[in-house]
Amino acid sequence: MTSRSDTVTPLPRARRAGKILPEHARAHNRSLVLQTLFHGGAMSRADLARETGLTRVTISDLVADLIVDRYVAERGFREAAGPGKPAILVDLDRDAHRIVGLDLSASDRFVGAVLTLDGEIVTRRDVAVPADRGAVVDTVTGLAGELVADAQATVLGIGVGTPGVVDEAGVVLAAPGLGWENLDLTGILTAALALPVLVANDANAAVLAEHTFGGAGDDVILVKIGRGVGAGLLAGGRPLAGARSAAGEIGHVTVGTDGGPDCACGKVGCLEAWVSVPSLSARLADLDVGAHDDELRDAGERLGIALAPIVGALDLSEIVLSGPEELLGGALSRAAAETVRTRTLATFHDELQVRMTEQGQDIVLRGAAVMVLSGRLGVL
Ligand SMILES: [Zn+2]
Repeated sequence: MTSRSDTVTPLPRARRAGKILPEHARAHNRSLVLQTLFHGGAMSRADLARETGLTRVTISDLVADLIVDRYVAERGFREAAGPGKPAILVDLDRDAHRIVGLDLSASDRFVGAVLTLDGEIVTRRDVAVPADRGAVVDTVTGLAGELVADAQATVLGIGVGTPGVVDEAGVVLAAPGLGWENLDLTGILTAALALPVLVANDANAAVLAEHTFGGAGDDVILVKIGRGVGAGLLAGGRPLAGARSAAGEIGHVTVGTDGGPDCACGKVGCLEAWVSVPSLSARLADLDVGAHDDELRDAGERLGIALAPIVGALDLSEIVLSGPEELLGGALSRAAAETVRTRTLATFHDELQVRMTEQGQDIVLRGAAVMVLSGRLGVL
């Protein structure tokens, strides 16, 4: 028998860095337990072992640690089905923890909430976006601080969905609407509130809410239509960031070669000029009600033209729209679905779903909660 150290050629540095160390395996298993409880609710240690494929000993050990850390709590006995000792149930300690979520995407109000680990909203607050650009950061910090004080439980973290391009470290690279450039919002909030902070683009937050709470699949685009148009993408269940953290910035993609409405960016026929709420509403206001569906169908077709290559390239199974139901819910989404289907490969994309989100106005707040769940507990 040859000794291992004699025969194993050293791996290149990158490969060695990727080797699974015992502490990584432990962190992975810990997340697996939390994830299983998050989705499955209270269960016995034996159920957990069965669900996770881990041994009973490993589960007992992990659960004991998680109880000490107050993430998991025992929840009484299960009714015994037969003879023998009834099993003790364990669950996430849902009552002991809260999450603070902020949605900075509206033009007039910043909205925030205290949420449960299940994404239910306990308390809400909102504050006017200050006209003075210099006061915006303090307003956001103040809102977050008030919500932390409202929580009356351990705050697991603060999640923020903001307009603009946000990098992996939670630095807002550019959010012109708020006057932000290279703003380390994560660092500022962490320093002010001494809690873990996770910041992402609002549409990227929204797609996480749709995935975790709205039953969306692992390959989905969420198109958020408001003052602007942005999208959040999941591929294989993972957020897609892109080379410059700007994946999903589809608002200023020009749709077609036949012109179209003027866009604020100076171009003509951008997706945003076709389907953003202000531009769509302005065009509808000039038309008789009888002509509204035609206009909405046109806009939906343009949206479909922009989305078809994305669906094709990434083999997406779902397009979810978030925005005013009265504008997006009817003719527009039907035309978008039809356009994407006729412009992609029938064999693969005939089953493509195009639907409105059921998360309503709170989608970014709930997505911010998922960011915290994922960042702190490894739950998705
Ligand atoms: Zn544009």
